[in-house]
Amino acid sequence: MSIAVVGSIGLDTIQTPAGRVHEVLGGSAAYFALAARYFLPVSVVAVVGDDFPGEARAMLDVPDVDLSGLEVSAGKTFRWEGVYSDDMNTRATIRTELNVFERFDPKLPERTRALRNVFLANIDPVLQRNVLGQLSRPQLVLADTMNYWIRNKRAELMETLKQVRILIINEEEAREISGEALTHKAARAILSMGPETVVVKQGEHGAFLQSASVYFSCPGLPIETVVDPTGAGDTFAGGFFGALARMGRVNDHNLRRAVVYGCVLASFTVEGFGVTGLARVTREAILSRAEAIADMTRFSLSDTARILR
Ligand code: AMP
Repeated sequence: MSIAVVGSIGLDTIQTPAGRVHEVLGGSAAYFALAARYFLPVSVVAVVGDDFPGEARAMLDVPDVDLSGLEVSAGKTFRWEGVYSDDMNTRATIRTELNVFERFDPKLPERTRALRNVFLANIDPVLQRNVLGQLSRPQLVLADTMNYWIRNKRAELMETLKQVRILIINEEEAREISGEALTHKAARAILSMGPETVVVKQGEHGAFLQSASVYFSCPGLPIETVVDPTGAGDTFAGGFFGALARMGRVNDHNLRRAVVYGCVLASFTVEGFGVTGLARVTREAILSRAEAIADMTRFSLSDTARILR
């Protein structure tokens, strides 16, 4: 059992109050794969240019990440540059150079077509649907999207959403898809568009999950030193999907636990530039942070009758 991820791989230039890095490994598929592999093997389907440095490839070329679907195309690799505000809650995109990513037409290797679990990272909703068409029996289909597709390819996105079982988006995107200002209402509105579950990422405040039968909210971990939030959302998706697919059954209990693992994995990403925070994670550290969340959210109702007049 493995997970296929289709998304971007690129070179990021990032400036935060903690410093600046130039052209380091980035892209949604990179963060997703490096998080999900703690639970299940991941097959990456993406494209890079012939200038993609060996150093960046080596960071992805780790146990349980299959790079046979990483196409190397003649031309330049996708590049992105962002600058964060002082509180790191907002960022400005300085530059997006799509390069070979502009002509990305995902072709799944034969072995990957049989996979049941697929994460459609933030790409054109038409391509997301093409990928689903290549899978022989997709079962657990998760997807992400962004404001650009919501605004410019709404009808296509709506078609894709009909085939998506779990949508993972941030608060702003949830509002924009649904037209609802309140995020919990936005999540419920999205449930009528196709997905049976919606996960809304809330940055440093964690994430919540909404399905027909469960609403579950998980706080963000109080991290002492936030260095770079880039990729936290895709890392969340990797932790969430990895844990859920590994648990095997999609039920309320497992969905709740998967949200916790999403928050835990994302907490490591923000501690270092690019994928460095994620790359040094241990299983013990994951468990310890999951226990910290269990502890942070534990409380008792036993005295309620006495304190409530
Ligand atoms: P996040 O911080 O979770 O939004 O993810 C940031 C990652 O998304 C960076 O590594 C970027 O390389 C990548 N990225 C930025 N813009 C795009 C885009 N238009 N399409 C695909 N990936 C992108």
